[in-house]
Amino acid sequence: MNNMDSTFIIIGGGIAGVSCAEGLAFLAPEEKVVLITASSLIKAVTNIVPISQNLTQFDVEERNIVTLTEMHPSVSVVHDLVVRVDNENKLVETKSGQVIRYKKLCLCTGASPKLITENSPHVIGIRDTESVEKFSSRIKNAKRIVVVGNGGIATEIVHEIRGVEIIWVIKDKHISATFVDPGAAEFFQNKLIQRNDKSECDRVVKRMKYTVSEGQVTKGGAALGPDWHSSCNVKGTSVASSKVQVEYECEIIGVSSEQQDNEEWPIYAELTNGKIIGCDFIVSATGVVPNSTLNGLEELNKGGDGGILVDSKLQTSEKDLFAAGDVCTVNWNLAEHWFQMRLWTQALQMGRYAAKSMACDLRGEDFFQDFCFELFTHVTKFFGFKVVLLGLYNGQKLNGSYEILLRMTKNVEYIKLILKDGKLKGAVLIGETDLEEMCENLILNQLDLTIYGEDLLNPDIDVEDYFD
Ligand code: FAD
Repeated sequence: MNNMDSTFIIIGGGIAGVSCAEGLAFLAPEEKVVLITASSLIKAVTNIVPISQNLTQFDVEERNIVTLTEMHPSVSVVHDLVVRVDNENKLVETKSGQVIRYKKLCLCTGASPKLITENSPHVIGIRDTESVEKFSSRIKNAKRIVVVGNGGIATEIVHEIRGVEIIWVIKDKHISATFVDPGAAEFFQNKLIQRNDKSECDRVVKRMKYTVSEGQVTKGGAALGPDWHSSCNVKGTSVASSKVQVEYECEIIGVSSEQQDNEEWPIYAELTNGKIIGCDFIVSATGVVPNSTLNGLEELNKGGDGGILVDSKLQTSEKDLFAAGDVCTVNWNLAEHWFQMRLWTQALQMGRYAAKSMACDLRGEDFFQDFCFELFTHVTKFFGFKVVLLGLYNGQKLNGSYEILLRMTKNVEYIKLILKDGKLKGAVLIGETDLEEMCENLILNQLDLTIYGEDLLNPDIDVEDYFD
C-alpha cells in the first residue's frame, strides 16, 4: 500500500488535468484525488471573463504545484513522471519508483510539438515555459530566424518578435490559415507590413455577400482570392520594407549546417521552392502529436492523429480509464456546430467534464453531456486584435456550400458570417465588434435570417433590436 493510493488519479498538470482535479474536488470532496505531473509547475486558468453564454475569455498562469492542495485539500500533487499504466490492476508506476493505485484514472498528458527534424540544436519547438525561455534567450542574439507553420503559435511569434529578420514559411496561400480565411489574413497583412496608409482607415470599406458553392467562392462571378485584394483596395505587399518575409505555399524539405553561400549561419533551411535560407535557428510550429504512448496504453483505441479515442463521456476504450485535453481525440456523434481543436478552451471544458463523468461513473449515476460541446468557441488575439471564432467559422463540415456575409473596416474590425439556407452556421469576429452574443444565439437557435439579408451586417442598423 502506498499512502498516495486514491480514488482518482490524474496524469498531467496542464489545463485539462488541473481543471479535472478541481472538478473532482468540487463534485466528490470526500474522495482522494492524486494529480501526477512531470512539470514542476501547474497551469491554472485565471481572470475568467464571460463574453457570452458559451464564450469565455481567460488567462493561463503557471503556478507552484502546492497551490492546488492549498485550495483543494482532497487533492495531492506528485511531481514525477508516470512511466507505466496498468489498468487491469489499477495502478501507475512513476520514474522514481512509486506505485500508486486508483479506481478511476484520467489521462491528461497533452501533446508535443511536431518538429521538422529531431536532434538539431538549431530547431526549436515551442510548447512550454522552458521552450519559451529557450526561445527568448536565443532570440536576443539572433539576426534572422525561420518560422515554419501557419497556426496560432507561428502567427503570434511573427507578430510579437521585433528586431530580427523573420522568414515565415507557410504551406498555404495565405497567413494564419488554421484560424482565418484569406480575407481576414489580408486584414492582418496590414499589420504585418506595417503600412502607414491612414487614408483608408476607420471607415467601412465594403459590405459584401459571397456565395460559396462546391468550394468555389464567387462574388458576381469572381473568385475570392484576387477579388479580395481589389475590392478592399489592398495593394501588393511590400515585404522588403518590413522585417518579415513570407514564403507562401512551401515547406522545409531539409536542414543542414554546412555553409551554403557567402554568409555564415548556424543552420540552413532548404525549401520546396528551391530556396536555401541561412538563419540563426528555426522555430518549428507545425502542430502537435498527442502524448499517448505511455507503457501499458498500447491496447487503447487511438485515432488517425495518434490521440486516444474517447466517447461522449470522455471514456477511452478501457473501463475506468478517461482522457481529456490535447491527448484525446473525440469519437462521438458531434453536435452540428462543434468540432475538436487542441486549444485551451477545450482542455478546460474537457477537464471539467471528465471530472463530472468520473464522479458519476463512480456513483453509478447518469448525466447529460455538457452544453459546451454544442458550439465551437475560441477567443484569442492575433496581431493585437481580439479574435472570436464561433461555430463553423471557416465553413467546416459544410462541404463548400454556404454564403458569406462580410463587413470590414480597415484596421478596426473584420466580421464574417457563414450562412447556409438562411441560417447562421459560424462567425469570425475580429476587433471589438460586440456581436458575440447575437451570433452565438443565432447559431444555437437556427433562426431563419433570409428576410434580413445583408442588413444583418449593416453598421447603421442595430441588428440586435431585431432579435430582442
Ligand atoms: P498540456 O498543457 O500539454 O499538459 C500536459 C501535462 O502532462 C504537462 O503538465 C506534462 O508535464 C504532463 N505529462 C505528460 N506526460 C506525462 C507523464 N508521463 N507523467 C506525468 N506527467 C506527464 N491554445 C489556446 O487556446 N490559445 C492560445 O493562445 C494557445 N497558445 C499556445 C501557445 C503555445 C506555444 C502552445 C504550445 C500551445 C498553445 N495553445 C493555445 C494550445 C494549448 O496550450 C493546449 O491546447 C492546452 O494547453 C492543452 O492542455 P492539456 O492540459 O491537454 O495539455
